[in-house]
Amino acid sequence: MSINKNKARHSLLEHTSQQFYDLIVIGGGVTGAGIALDASHNGLKTLLLEKADFASGTSSKSTKLIHGGLRYLKQLEISLVKESGLERAVVHKLAPHLVHPEKMLLPIVRKGSFGKLAASVAISIYDFLARVKSKDRKESLSKEETEILEPLLNDKIVKGGVRYSEYRTDDARLTISLIKRAVDLGCDAINYAEVKEFGYSEKGLMDSVEIKDHSTNQSYTVRSQCIVSAAGSWVDGVREKDDSLSDKHLFLSKGSHIVVPHPRLPLKQAVYFDDFKGRMIFAIPRQGITYIGTTDLAYDQSLNDVYCTQEEANYLLDATNYLFPKVNLSLDDIESSWSGLRPLIHQKGKKPTELSRKDEIFESPSGLISIAGGKLTGYRKMAERVVIKVLEKHFPKNNHHTTEGLFLNKDPFKSYDEVLSFIEQLESNLFHELEGKKIGEYLVFNYGRSAMDVVDLMREQSGTLTAEQLLIKSELTYTIEHEFVMTALDFFARRTARLYFNLSEVKEHLELVLKLMQEILEWDELTVEENRKSVEHAISRCLSCKTRIS
Ligand code: FAD
Repeated sequence: MSINKNKARHSLLEHTSQQFYDLIVIGGGVTGAGIALDASHNGLKTLLLEKADFASGTSSKSTKLIHGGLRYLKQLEISLVKESGLERAVVHKLAPHLVHPEKMLLPIVRKGSFGKLAASVAISIYDFLARVKSKDRKESLSKEETEILEPLLNDKIVKGGVRYSEYRTDDARLTISLIKRAVDLGCDAINYAEVKEFGYSEKGLMDSVEIKDHSTNQSYTVRSQCIVSAAGSWVDGVREKDDSLSDKHLFLSKGSHIVVPHPRLPLKQAVYFDDFKGRMIFAIPRQGITYIGTTDLAYDQSLNDVYCTQEEANYLLDATNYLFPKVNLSLDDIESSWSGLRPLIHQKGKKPTELSRKDEIFESPSGLISIAGGKLTGYRKMAERVVIKVLEKHFPKNNHHTTEGLFLNKDPFKSYDEVLSFIEQLESNLFHELEGKKIGEYLVFNYGRSAMDVVDLMREQSGTLTAEQLLIKSELTYTIEHEFVMTALDFFARRTARLYFNLSEVKEHLELVLKLMQEILEWDELTVEENRKSVEHAISRCLSCKTRIS
């Protein structure tokens, strides 16, 4: 099979340089993707540009929760908690296969950050602000009930617990879904296309961008009425290109997660717990592993090479061993890790943990609109605020139409029950070699109803591949065709999260993926080698916290 994706990409880039867009969005993380979708839904001719892969910034490195942020209640960020709390249910409704209900256990421990009464009151407020349905509201638990729910807890310090409702997602998959939906509605979206410079009208207003296509090194100039930067941690760098970096600037805080096999930390559900100093950490079981995070440290190193240090890994291990002493985790147990940067708004004299997680919009004299801060959970409301501003400034006759009822898939699930029965149906279509591995759940959570297309692709293949190899081949074919996959790392990190949740499969299938991509994308040997090196580098970064003091 040979589909010449390169030609299609080249003509898309040529096409963009002949257009006059209403809006160009810089940055294909969840914020930019949300803006592109809202703008396209509102009829704006939109171009989304991403310098590397979509979601390769912070939007594949989060804790992967759609949550209100219980911790922010303590900082009295009531409006933030309320908005994110309410958004949880909205985003769940728009994509129930991607955003699933998850019960969270908060153990109350001696010298912890929450006492029994404080936790109960705080979570009641949390539920109230988010208008959580009565059947899903928090349950207060005795010490015995808490220990039955989670027998691994340290019985010497646990005094009780509270169980409450949150949602879990895959951040990169959410971002890709938003972009696919925006493209359905007419948006042009290009990854590996970096905005290098801006162009201005005679009046000094920004009216074009110069982009570099990283696959060919060719440059293109694209014109637009309005330009928005949703460049996350790179927002200040983009404002520098416009000479508009002011006193208000970013403060970057790094957060790392480590991954251990689920049998080594066999939690029955997600737990939100105190370290020995009362800082809160998540431990979340998922797909045969448990991940633990996060740290919160001021960061001033490379934005493009962020990884978990041994010091951070030791801190997360020590905190986990303190609450779950029977498991006695060590660096040897770590199977993978990831780190991301929080682009927070600088506030003089405050520590990273104290800085607000609220988003903020900056407008420069040239008309560039930048948005930074915020959370994955609030992407839709952030996008709405930006698009309303764009409409007010440039298209004052247009009313804004909300995306509150806009499903993230063309053929959506209408409820979580529908998702569960689709998983059952899919499981019965799978090769028996894959039974018992929760592959149906994995495929539906990743691809929604298109999971059936992946299974159909498996059935169409002939040859000597094993069932697991067929699965990889079908996912790869599907994601190259429908999800902008350009490199082997796009596939392993952002489309399938194997780099974080199943690193051994990345090692096992790397050569197969390189061979298939060479065939499908007509790569030369140099491109194959570059891809091999970049996946190997990513693997070493996931493991570097184990092997050296960084
Ligand atoms: P990014 O995802 O970083 O996207 C910005 C993009 O802009 C990048 O892909 C970059 O390559 C691109 N770009 C930069 N410059 C250019 C250019 N010149 N041209 C083209 N493209 C460019 N939020 C939650 O709601 N729930 C959580 O559980 C959660 N956990 C978190 C845990 C950690 C450790 C961290 C760090 C954050 C967490 N967050 C969470 C916050 C959330 O992840 C971020 O708010 C969100 O992902 C930021 O998305 P973004 O699109 O603004 O930035």
